[in-house]
Amino acid sequence: MATTKAGTLYVVATPIGNLGDLSPRAREVLSAVDAICAEDTRHTRQLLVAVGIDRPLLALHEHNEGEIAWKLVERLKSGDALALVSDAGTPLVSDPGYRLVREVRAAGLAVSPIPGACAAIAALSVAGIPSDRFCFEGFLPAKSSARRERLAALSRETRTLVFYESSHRIEESLRDLVAMFGGDREAVIGRELTKLFETVLGDTLDTLAAQVAADEHQRKGEFVIIVRGCDDDASARLLEGQRLYAKLAEHLKPSLAAKLAADISGAPRKSLYGGGGE
Ligand code: SAM
Repeated sequence: MATTKAGTLYVVATPIGNLGDLSPRAREVLSAVDAICAEDTRHTRQLLVAVGIDRPLLALHEHNEGEIAWKLVERLKSGDALALVSDAGTPLVSDPGYRLVREVRAAGLAVSPIPGACAAIAALSVAGIPSDRFCFEGFLPAKSSARRERLAALSRETRTLVFYESSHRIEESLRDLVAMFGGDREAVIGRELTKLFETVLGDTLDTLAAQVAADEHQRKGEFVIIVRGCDDDASARLLEGQRLYAKLAEHLKPSLAAKLAADISGAPRKSLYGGGGE
């Protein structure tokens, strides 16, 4: 059977650090397609050179995807086989490609996956936190106020939560997770997975936040944060706290209403009232 079919877009996962994770099928497909659409052509060129593949590269990133998707559809219609890759891992997972895949499918053309590495799944597979039901949240907002708002909306989620984070914000995000979910929630941080300095730390959120704050090495690299979902007791405390807060805030200053509601219900105070982004 031929490695690639005419008129097909192959969505190809590439390694998240360890070159050995490029699958044999990914190599075959990348070697055989007419062109490879890449988020950063220089980055992908390095990968291709390392594995001895020489195919034309086309830039496809969040700023030009809307404009060039139709041109790629035309190429596929004319019989070309194309591949889509991102800088690392699986395209479309916190990476470009969604609009292209949608347009190719809308044109009635085939889109075929070449699965492989994905940081979220790699972290989940080693976390030892329930993985039968999980919720992929990708990157949290960059600003603390928006981040806390998002976390407040997720604080009662009972499924395991999966976040991506960068070295710039790992410390702040852990601090906000403690504030909004309470410090005793179990979590795992997967750092630099499949790379030389891979670390997988598991503990309560407040212990992890303290560990990362105290050790600059633990703030370097790329991170996946896996947080255990809310258990029923914590969920009930939060509901009760929110109910009390809504009532008390009708008569008291928000900060005092939150303090009282938290004391009475046992819910984390900051999950009731943002606390001004401290
Ligand atoms: N599409 C990729 C995937 O399939 O995982 C994710 C791309 S997203 C732009 C990059 C983020 O993924 C990083 O900021 C980090 O949160 C996570 N990530 C990527 N590689 C990682 C690694 N080796 N270890 C831990 N996290 C990683």
